Amino acid sequence: MDFDVIVIGAGPAGLTAALYLGRANLKTLILDSTGIGGQLNYSYEIDNYPGFFGKGFELAQKMREQAMKFGGVFSSERVLEIGVFEDGTKFVKTRKNEYRTKSIIIATGASPRPLDVDGEKEFTGRGVSYCATCDGAFFKDKNVAVVGGGNTAFADALYLSKFCHSVFLIHRRDTFRASAFLIDKVKNSKILVRTNEVVEKIVGRDMVNSIVLKNTTTSDSTVLDVSALFIAVGRLPNSDLGKGLLSLDENGYIITDENMRTNIDGIYAVGDIRKTPLRQIITAAADGAVAANDIALKM
Ligand code: NAP
Repeated sequence: MDFDVIVIGAGPAGLTAALYLGRANLKTLILDSTGIGGQLNYSYEIDNYPGFFGKGFELAQKMREQAMKFGGVFSSERVLEIGVFEDGTKFVKTRKNEYRTKSIIIATGASPRPLDVDGEKEFTGRGVSYCATCDGAFFKDKNVAVVGGGNTAFADALYLSKFCHSVFLIHRRDTFRASAFLIDKVKNSKILVRTNEVVEKIVGRDMVNSIVLKNTTTSDSTVLDVSALFIAVGRLPNSDLGKGLLSLDENGYIITDENMRTNIDGIYAVGDIRKTPLRQIITAAADGAVAANDIALKM
């Protein structure tokens, strides 16, 4: 057997699982082709993880150090397939290797949902972005827009308002999913909130130069001159590895029990990838600890 446990995904859920597994003396491999930190790397400021107040990538580095301190091994590999042999041993296939393991923890999180409007694909990387903290700096002193009404859209708009000229926040309804704290911060900022509007089209030549909005109550159209559109309309689960093997809900999230066990013995799911009522750093970390504890008790 190569490993006791293979953790797929190195965000807060996967890194916390690795920390707890290491402390239980279990031989643990963490695989992630995108590096360490997951969505933490796209969060500018973290202010709701108790005991920490700072940048997302800083928390990722601390979590990484702690997980490695207890013996976790990290490898940057893309997982192509997981499965179970007849004797119950699991396999994890990557481009380079095929590993054998007693247990697997899936912590692959979720990716940005596309808006599916004209111009989106064409201008991705040329003014259309799904990550304000990654790409915002390119638009210093420019007019930009953010679309979405959740925590990500609000946090992105606040971040961009620090250095962009004008920031428009566009939402399809007039109430928001974002937390009251972020709504208040936006209200007291220079951000221009536009409600009951949807983005119909993204327009430009080499780069984005405007977006066309449609009012959902009057059907009126407006053209906003902006250099960038940051799309923050939710996330889609990265659950391809589980398809055909694990039970998923109607939205593609992996169904687990309270110990993070999936329908396959020895395969767990933690963090944003699983069906859960709250997706935060703290809940992802807690999921990782619960799964690791369950595995340690069974070994
Ligand atoms: P979210 O909470 O699902 O919000 C997505 C937003 O996009 C909603 O307002 C939704 O509108 C809108 N939307 C969806 N599809 C759309 C479309 N086709 N056109 C226009 N608007 C559309 O997603 P999120 O903001 O990415 O957050 C994901 C999870 O991460 C949440 O659990 C959130 O709490 C968490 N998170 C937390 C923090 C924090 O605590 N600081 C920061 C970031 C994210 P409707 O409201 O009309 O459905």
